Amino acid sequence: MGRHFDLIVIGAGSGGVRAGRLASSYGAKVAVVEEYRLGGTCVIRGCVPKKLFVYASRFPEQFEVSKNFGWSMEEPTFDWQTLRDNKDKEIQRLEGIYGNILDNAGVTVFRDRAELTSGTSVKLQKDGEELTADRILIATGGTPFVPNIPGAELGITSNEAFHLDELPEKILIVGGGYIAVEFAGIFAGLGVKTTLAYRGPQILRGFDEDVRDMVAEQMQARGIEILTNTDLSALEKSDNGINVTFDNDQSAEFGEVMFATGRSPNTKGLGLEYTDIEVGAREEIIVDEQSRTSCKTVFAVGDVTDRAALTPVAIREGAAFAETFYNDNPTFVHHDLIPTAVFSEPEIGTIGMTETQAGNRYHKVNVYKATFRPMMNTLGDKAEKEMYKLITDADTDKVLGVHVVGHAAGEIIQMAGIAVTMGATKADFDRTIAVHPTAAEELVTMKQPSYVLEYGKKVE
Ligand code: FAD
Ligand code: NDP
Repeated sequence: MGRHFDLIVIGAGSGGVRAGRLASSYGAKVAVVEEYRLGGTCVIRGCVPKKLFVYASRFPEQFEVSKNFGWSMEEPTFDWQTLRDNKDKEIQRLEGIYGNILDNAGVTVFRDRAELTSGTSVKLQKDGEELTADRILIATGGTPFVPNIPGAELGITSNEAFHLDELPEKILIVGGGYIAVEFAGIFAGLGVKTTLAYRGPQILRGFDEDVRDMVAEQMQARGIEILTNTDLSALEKSDNGINVTFDNDQSAEFGEVMFATGRSPNTKGLGLEYTDIEVGAREEIIVDEQSRTSCKTVFAVGDVTDRAALTPVAIREGAAFAETFYNDNPTFVHHDLIPTAVFSEPEIGTIGMTETQAGNRYHKVNVYKATFRPMMNTLGDKAEKEMYKLITDADTDKVLGVHVVGHAAGEIIQMAGIAVTMGATKADFDRTIAVHPTAAEELVTMKQPSYVLEYGKKVE
């Protein structure tokens, strides 16, 4: 038997680092085991490098628009290797910060793979040491899911997209969720001819219908080809890349094919069979509202629990676990009202119910909608519009949902999210004085409903 800890955390990602650091600050003897890089998906191959790429992809439009504002410059050129390598340096810097955070908190870090050998022990796979603990927290995140299609191994996922040797001339992105639309915007903005193939009738399932339609339309206007109701049947190596056959028997050649077809909870080979931890249909670890698994010494937070796969949620769950079990402060995370942004082009910010969800749940719903060309695009001579949409319960006046499509939608929804989380009414929004001239002032200036839903049906 090796060393004993109060808590062993498996995975140094968003949830694990927060839980381990906080528990240690409350006096627990904590070990964190990480098999890859400190920081986890978000820092190493998720939110952070993605957002850096999003910034890079947005410059061409700025160069273009600037001409009507009086600027002139030589034809700009782009160098992928510079962006990729500068991004790598920044990620390395952040990884160092995560290491310091854990060291400074007094956490013992093992750079190894951990597998459970019981509800109170894990084996380090390289080192061979078996660590024991009073409690174990599983924070192993998720991993890209790739459908079982002949030749699928020729494709890449977001993991590899961050490290390409060079940009392809043409890329096919498979999927219609967060990663697919964000990377479609990135690649198209960086000059890659981009096609997105989605199996359903409209991308971004789960988002408000107007948001989905507007984003799809504007992605297409920006030159992204969107193939809906389209699945892939096979991929084969071709002279210049990969030949893709679609389920309608048509085929086309691409330099790269990127699968953005969801992520699976990281539970494979974790040794769950040596415990009585229950998993669900997607192999996610089933937990209660305080992240307890069915094994009383083991807990789980973050993507591995498949509640809401977002960094701030994993961090909250990790913090709530440490508060509850190491600071005698029972803390719950509410998953019902989560603001979120999609860093697509155009960007989406959203919190609360979609129009359809509200219509199904409340007997009378007011829908306020403003669609307009932002000031930047008037002089910039661009047709693209933005949208602000508020959904309220007509009986109580409570704001049920806010949906924004356009510039800085993520920043805007963070602020609107505070009001909605506080339970703001439309009257609260109305009595807030506008900030002018902004696009977000629409949130407080829309007076009359654009239409009303009764029992889910439009009546005005
Ligand atoms: P992770 O951060 O995935 O950490 C799990 C860690 O566990 C990993 O480091 C892994 O190596 C380690 N591990 C796994 N198994 C073992 C083992 N057996 N032994 C030791 N270590 C192990 N969310 C947002 O909120 N905003 C965004 O903009 C955003 N963008 C994203 C973009 C992309 C491309 C992706 C893929 C995800 C994005 N996400 C975003 C989601 C976000 O990254 C995750 O929700 C978040 O990282 C989950 O944190 P976690 O702690 O659950 O797991
Ligand atoms: P999503 O669940 O968002 O999207 C997966 C997409 O793949 C969906 O369009 C889904 O279709 C499709 N799909 C699933 N299985 C198949 C299949 N077998 N064949 C064809 N298509 C398939 O997952 P992502 O991978 O985009 O991202 C994972 C999660 O990471 C997100 O849900 C989000 O929580 C988080 N994330 C957050 C970001 C942010 O906050 N900005 C950015 C990136 C990721 P269908 O809709 O029909 O099921």
